[in-house]
Amino acid sequence: MDRSHFSPETQMLGYGYEPALSEGSVKCPIFQTSTFVFHSAEEGKSFFEMAYGRPGHEGEVPGLIYSRINNPGMEILEERLKLWDGGEACAAFSSGMSAIATTLFTFLSPGDVLLYSNPVYGGTHKFINNILTQFGIEVIGFRAGQSKKEVEEILVQSGHAGKLKMIYVETPANPTNDLIDIALCSEIAKKYSDVEKNVLVAVDNTYMGPLWQHPLKHGADLVLYSATKYIGGHSDVIAGAAVGSGELISKIKKTRTFFGTMIDPHTSWLLLRSLETLKLRMEAAEMNAEKVADFLSAHPKVEKIYYLGYTGKNNPVQQDIYEKQYLSNGAMLSFDILGGEKQAFTFLNNLRHIKLAVSLGGTESLAEHPATMTHVDIPDEEKELYHINPKMIRLSIGVENYQDLIWDISQALEKVQAPLAKPAEFI
Ligand SMILES: *Cc1c(COP(=O)(O)O)cnc(C)c1O
Repeated sequence: MDRSHFSPETQMLGYGYEPALSEGSVKCPIFQTSTFVFHSAEEGKSFFEMAYGRPGHEGEVPGLIYSRINNPGMEILEERLKLWDGGEACAAFSSGMSAIATTLFTFLSPGDVLLYSNPVYGGTHKFINNILTQFGIEVIGFRAGQSKKEVEEILVQSGHAGKLKMIYVETPANPTNDLIDIALCSEIAKKYSDVEKNVLVAVDNTYMGPLWQHPLKHGADLVLYSATKYIGGHSDVIAGAAVGSGELISKIKKTRTFFGTMIDPHTSWLLLRSLETLKLRMEAAEMNAEKVADFLSAHPKVEKIYYLGYTGKNNPVQQDIYEKQYLSNGAMLSFDILGGEKQAFTFLNNLRHIKLAVSLGGTESLAEHPATMTHVDIPDEEKELYHINPKMIRLSIGVENYQDLIWDISQALEKVQAPLAKPAEFI
């Protein structure tokens, strides 16, 4: 039966799994095994030849050898995950960071230039600036919100534009929801590509999950995920993924085999379960986020809201990116509370339901303070540049009843004393 016209949410219930191969089990079992039995020595020989890319096996499907290379659960997860982004292939990883690190190490060599956007996830920033640079890779940052002309100027001024090998972006930027035009990155990549080198564009799409932004459709070559966030969706696993063309993903998988950064069988199985409700969870969260944003925008103790739905108001120049690139306003928003760190902390300490924790994209709502937590490592002058200030609070909105979320936010805001106004005699 041809099911290729089915939507991803339907495919999550069966695609890539054949019950007859597993005693008729409706659900894919957990293949908790490190190694697989060959039918014969000849078969083992041919599986190894295929795994090492020896000629003579064109068109054959490689068999299972060892779980660091492949495992049925991992394979089915990858088949399903790629569908949301419309990719040809997917590689699943033990964490978002291992997906990012393995991918960057696959395509970057000493002497290459990596152009990346700021702010990026803290772990990514450290990896790019502290690890890649140890291997002679030159890293050049630009800021989300800068124009194509400004970005190209930064690249040219480095004096190494000709060595550009990859553009790595995170959009919307965390925690400000600033936007980067993926198609423009792809134009820059094409301009610096030649017969010898194909400059790649990689997008960390964790913030939008696989539902609300499809970077491949805008010219990106690779989409990266921390599956710990919306894909896992229950704040109970650490995992990651890369999606792209068959050719690029097969190169990434070769590196993964030797780094050993693949996902484990149990986590694969948990993610297969998570994927069945991905759309339901994300849609519930996005509706809640809209209600919370509306509530905050009318609150006298709230100065500014960083929400994708307010792009036109906050950043009119980014409105066209918003319209062409985003399918939703998402469920991540930040706001500046009237005052500073003291007021922000009072708010966070008084939340009764929403948990004070980093991470995002889970069923439960979470709140945190970027300036002293997730983004503490960014130098102060850069924090200012990215608008990450002490009065900012980041919210990851979950699937609760929105009225309960608003009740919680409202009562915590009530506990906050606005900074002292000027004494009456000076007015
Ligand atoms: C969490 C996160 C990561 C890192 O993922 P882990 O699963 O924690 O390794 C990378 N990028 C973004 C945008 C994230 O939010």
